[in-house]
Amino acid sequence: AIVLGLESSCDETAAAVLRADGTILAEAVLSQQEEHARFGGVVPEIAARAHLEHLPRLVAQVMDRAGLGYGDLAGIAATSGPGLIGGLIVGATLGKGIAIAHGLPFVAVNHLEAHALTATLPGILPAAVLAVLPEARGRDALPAAGDGRHAGPVRFPYLLLLLSGGHCQCVAVEGVGRYRRLGTTLDDAVGEAFDKSAKLLGLPWPGGPALERLATQGDPAAVPLPRPLLGRPGCDFSWSGLKTAVAQAVARGPLTGQGKADIAAGFQAAVAAVLADRAAHAIAMVPGATALVVAGGVAANQAVRAALAGAAARHGLPLVAPPIRLCTDNAVMVAWAGIERLRRGLTDELGHAPRPRWPLEELAA
Ligand code: ATP
Ligand code: MG
Ligand code: FE
Repeated sequence: AIVLGLESSCDETAAAVLRADGTILAEAVLSQQEEHARFGGVVPEIAARAHLEHLPRLVAQVMDRAGLGYGDLAGIAATSGPGLIGGLIVGATLGKGIAIAHGLPFVAVNHLEAHALTATLPGILPAAVLAVLPEARGRDALPAAGDGRHAGPVRFPYLLLLLSGGHCQCVAVEGVGRYRRLGTTLDDAVGEAFDKSAKLLGLPWPGGPALERLATQGDPAAVPLPRPLLGRPGCDFSWSGLKTAVAQAVARGPLTGQGKADIAAGFQAAVAAVLADRAAHAIAMVPGATALVVAGGVAANQAVRAALAGAAARHGLPLVAPPIRLCTDNAVMVAWAGIERLRRGLTDELGHAPRPRWPLEELAA
């Protein structure tokens, strides 16, 4: 069985064709970053128009590259929330159109579920087992990649830290359609905190990667910054105080290049320390967890990965970090979530309305 997946919930337009065994037959992702960069963030109207302009072409492209006709498909899966409503309507409507035209089942995929299930995609392990970070090895007696101990797919239940520009939450993944949110942000998403702090430092949007690069030249101890909620019970997050502290440090200026690098390093160290602390709490909250999984663009950050690998290792768990292209928004994860749902007979009506807000707990299994 082969499924076509569509993603258009934020600023990535993406399509992918997957076989039920997880084999990726073709995939394409188009980032709209350049279109939004001059506005310093994602502009919903521009995003919706870009999805409308590019998604049909990407679909044709992946079908062509996979050498398939629509008649070869077993179903269509389209992200139907949460996200920006304009983009969701574009993706869901195109998906339903193809489903109607070719008499195929339609799956309305929850974007968060797609991120959550990426770790169960066959074939991404053991390369994704990040216990293998060179920096972490030795310090935390971690198993090496490919040593066979984590060769199988990630098993339920596992913990997911979703760290992106729009989401910052910790979820116990108990099965397909079975999620328990353990903690969420009280204010900004962590990627948003990276982006806002980077902007304060004069870096271009999206600021995460630029801030990480700058931080390599800084001294994380030079500028003391707060570590919000560190040591508090539970695994909620809060980043606005840290962002304010960055603003104050910048305002104390005038800043030299070194001064900026020090703030960047201090910010990143604070985020990494808080995430490690929150992850440790989450692990304690789910005694049966088999792994700590990260997803979202912030999972690309090496300091964050090292801190989380350390926290997981201290509790005897592997950190599973799928390849970055599967951590950020993509359609492979949407097709995979669609496959897992189709397997269980979980299809949706063509009248299913896209949902800008769609918490994981409201998913029917
Ligand atoms: P959603 O929240 O709906 O999943 P998104 O587009 O906000 O969508 P992603 O595309 O997964 O999320 O991630 C983008 C975010 O990740 C941005 O905030 C970006 O700054 C951050 N990011 C990317 N690379 C890094 C990095 N190396 N270090 C820190 N943050 C990063
Ligand atoms: Mg994005
Ligand atoms: Fe996402």
